[in-house]
Amino acid sequence: MINIPKGTKDILPKEAFRWRFVEETARRTAEEFNVKEIRTPVFEHTEVFARGVGDTTDIVNKEMYTFLDKGGRSVTLKPEGTSAVVRSLIENGLFNETLPLKLYYITPCFRYERPQAGRLREFHQFGVEIFGGEGADTDAEVILLAKTFLERVGVTGLSLNINSIGCKTCRAEYNAALREYLQSREGELCPLCRERAEKNPLRVLDCKDENCKKVTADAPRILDYLCEDCKAHFEKVKSLLSACGVEYNIDPDIVRGLDYYTKTVFEFVSSAIGAQGTVCGGGRYDGLVESMGGPALCGAGFGLGLERLLLLMENLGAAVPPARSVALYIAPMGERAYEKAFSLAYALRKKGVSAETDHAGRSLKAQMKYADKIGAENVIVLGENELDAGEAEVKRMRDGEKRKIALDRIGEEFLP
Ligand code: ATP
Ligand code: MG
Repeated sequence: MINIPKGTKDILPKEAFRWRFVEETARRTAEEFNVKEIRTPVFEHTEVFARGVGDTTDIVNKEMYTFLDKGGRSVTLKPEGTSAVVRSLIENGLFNETLPLKLYYITPCFRYERPQAGRLREFHQFGVEIFGGEGADTDAEVILLAKTFLERVGVTGLSLNINSIGCKTCRAEYNAALREYLQSREGELCPLCRERAEKNPLRVLDCKDENCKKVTADAPRILDYLCEDCKAHFEKVKSLLSACGVEYNIDPDIVRGLDYYTKTVFEFVSSAIGAQGTVCGGGRYDGLVESMGGPALCGAGFGLGLERLLLLMENLGAAVPPARSVALYIAPMGERAYEKAFSLAYALRKKGVSAETDHAGRSLKAQMKYADKIGAENVIVLGENELDAGEAEVKRMRDGEKRKIALDRIGEEFLP
């Protein structure tokens, strides 16, 4: 037997309908916020992520699936969605279109991490990116979109944590203060963070190491260093959320795992799925497009992990509409009836009616059992008599009610 690679998962038929529900809800919600779909390749030139995500991040340093293709080019399986969207936006000149440009995607992502509950090597993200919206309303809008989606799939009780990590100007001042603090306690930091403290001190705040966490607990807070512009922006995000009746907590520890964020950062966190509680993370990334070779175009967005979301939905007992079942099972008796049943099933399917018939030469009794097992809503038995009369009895499985219908009218009867 050949096993599935570690950290990946099959989505089996018995759970695929949950995915469909989540994905359809994501699309519907995005479209109601006037956000359009974009699809980018599963792999990109490695440089897209090295530059986009940032080469001091865990993702780029430790987690990427990078390999040389047969032409000797370094390519990487998408570890996140934003950088790839930005690459596409620049390459296709999407920034020339009417702004704001509002995009969403549902994509597989790949990160070489230690697999555990809510952490896989292949996982899926629903992501939204809005480009060209400078105001705090854009930040609030992406938060509201995520929230609306989460509520629609039945997830309640999440905390929304927000923070601001400032812009280039105030971050420089903060970085200097943070660097100085970290250097004063360098001996307590993990080796990677000692390096980070110099190169990109903000990253140290995101380290999961217990000792590093102790050090960062007393570190200077970015919120105390925000410039007037960033402060006003953050206040506006908060007041817009309040105006929409949305509750939030200020969490000065959120810096997010990617280098490109500026100003607002946020997370939706659950306490119902264990350690990997962050279902959705996002924020503003005003310098990203420019840093990847595009124009100075601001952006804000989020990435929402679908595996974590589905785990949470299961733990919360969120209701998922059942998969559509077979509207009509046609049970033939005898060779002539079998041909009729086969062609009837085809005619029904062409009309958009889900239909099934016998494929195994089963007895009538076994067929009834089978029809029940596949959840057929109605069953019709076709024998010589029915063929001669051109009509047959349909049994509604839910309550056993029976009625006669003409065989040439079956399609109309069962249209959804
Ligand atoms: P974490 O702190 O859990 O590692 P992250 O900061 O690396 O998360 P992001 O890069 O912001 O996560 O990705 C957005 C979302 O994608 C996360 O909130 C989570 O729901 C999901 N996600 C990230 N990594 C994984 C993974 N390895 N397996 C499953 N879902 C993931
Ligand atoms: Mg991570």
